[in-house]
Amino acid sequence: MIPISDALNFLDRETIALPADEIKLEASVGRILAENVRADLDLPPFDRSQMDGFAVRVEDVRDAPVDLEIIGESVAGKGFGGEVNSGEAVRIMTGAPVPSGADSVQMVELTESDGDKVTIKNAAKPEQNIVPRAAEVKAGTVVLEKGEIITKNMIATLASFGYYKINVSKRPCVKILATGSEIVDISEKPAEDQIRNSNSWMIAEFAKKYADVEMLPIIRDDLESLKSAIREAASSCDCLIISGGVSVGDYDFTKPALRELGAEIFFEKVSLKPGKPTVFAKLGETLIFGLPGNPVSVAVTFYVFARTALLRMQGAKFPELNRGFAKLLHPIKSTKGRDALLPASFSTDSAGHLTIETLRFSGSSNFITFARAEGLVFVPAGVDLNAGEVAEIYFFD
Ligand code: AMP
Ligand code: MG
Repeated sequence: MIPISDALNFLDRETIALPADEIKLEASVGRILAENVRADLDLPPFDRSQMDGFAVRVEDVRDAPVDLEIIGESVAGKGFGGEVNSGEAVRIMTGAPVPSGADSVQMVELTESDGDKVTIKNAAKPEQNIVPRAAEVKAGTVVLEKGEIITKNMIATLASFGYYKINVSKRPCVKILATGSEIVDISEKPAEDQIRNSNSWMIAEFAKKYADVEMLPIIRDDLESLKSAIREAASSCDCLIISGGVSVGDYDFTKPALRELGAEIFFEKVSLKPGKPTVFAKLGETLIFGLPGNPVSVAVTFYVFARTALLRMQGAKFPELNRGFAKLLHPIKSTKGRDALLPASFSTDSAGHLTIETLRFSGSSNFITFARAEGLVFVPAGVDLNAGEVAEIYFFD
């Protein structure tokens, strides 16, 4: 049995980065940047007025009130081409370029104009009401980094610097295989000794965010059928996620099938509850996860291992779930010899602190309770946690 951190190191080591893919901006949310995004121009691209008013020379208005001649105007999208000389002013609008010669903008409220004359009533400070060129960003600056996941909030930045096409990592192709002679399709009414296939649907929904997914037909607990299904799937995808059949029962064939196919198994027992019998292997270049069949175990091991690998393959900077800390509302009993990552929901107490509500599980097959989980709470092996204590949490995404 290996610690979770060692298991994650195996993932890191065995995950090969996928090539880059050029996509359109509108298809980029959720994808991972395969290039640094740079500003291709200064922002603002010119000295920009922050006010409606008059562009003036500080020295001209030192002894305000003074009268100046209005020689033109600068509006957003069309600057004043000429130069402001002594005794002159240019009417200027918010967002417009400050004309050369002027070094200050006096707001319209502190002026009075009549025809081509303006009275500047107050003296002005140098650079007043002006955002200098490149004050926000200089051309060439890296504004988003390779390995960041593109979010909706990044779209304005990408659009502003002309990234109508972006280099992102190729999405991995993921195949999903449910095993178990008791498992039937969800469109069927299960017989007394059968249950519906919830795992494939859940894994598909989880993986969809980071990968192109394909659900394969359910495979019975039969070594030969499982071997041929794995061989076929692994030859045509980047990652195969199998659920069920990883324990030590007489009809658990995932590991025997992988062995007989010559797959390299990196780990098959992790110090994790739920999810101890999780298998991580490779057949050719294809990563294979064998997740224990209980739906809650599938969810936890998907988030901890498979999700991490899918993001790593795409060169993600932070492939693991976002971590945080929160206060436990209830005590949690630890497990001897195994760390636990238990599904939980979060809320806020009256003092504004994030709190953890552990979900009441009757067993790791309790997917109905899991339906309202928002993340995981970490319970170190052998360390019972008390109500009121601060615990480490991970947020589902
Ligand atoms: P296993 O890992 O094959 O020993 O399965 C553990 C438990 O998970 C058993 O109760 C299975 O019936 C259940 N299980 C396995 N595969 C699925 C699936 N695809 N959908 C729902 N439950 C499953
Ligand atoms: Mg089974």
